[in-house]
Amino acid sequence: MPRHDREEVARRAGHATWREAVEATAHLSQQEAGRVLGVSHPTVRAWRAELGLGVAAARPSAEQLKAAFQADAGDARHGSANGYRNLGCRCPACTSAWTDYQRARRTGPA
Ligand SMILES: [Zn+2]
Repeated sequence: MPRHDREEVARRAGHATWREAVEATAHLSQQEAGRVLGVSHPTVRAWRAELGLGVAAARPSAEQLKAAFQADAGDARHGSANGYRNLGCRCPACTSAWTDYQRARRTGPA
């Protein structure tokens, strides 16, 4: 949306500038702020991002979570089939748990 349009949007919503409008609605959810300002929530998100407001830190990716798990030997999930299969860990404890899990699947519980 061009700058003059956002200024127009802000004035219609009772704010002097779009920056003021974004700051004044920063405590609302993107949807609520969008309703107040008469724009879509992706627009609110873009405006907030431009001002560095209300932008939550990006959540870690699945790969980052796996890497963090594998690097943390104290994580209680080591020694589980989940650690081996879903989290990709190949430490002795996880590998052993996976072997046991597969064996139990083939032969039934010991
Ligand atoms: Zn492990």
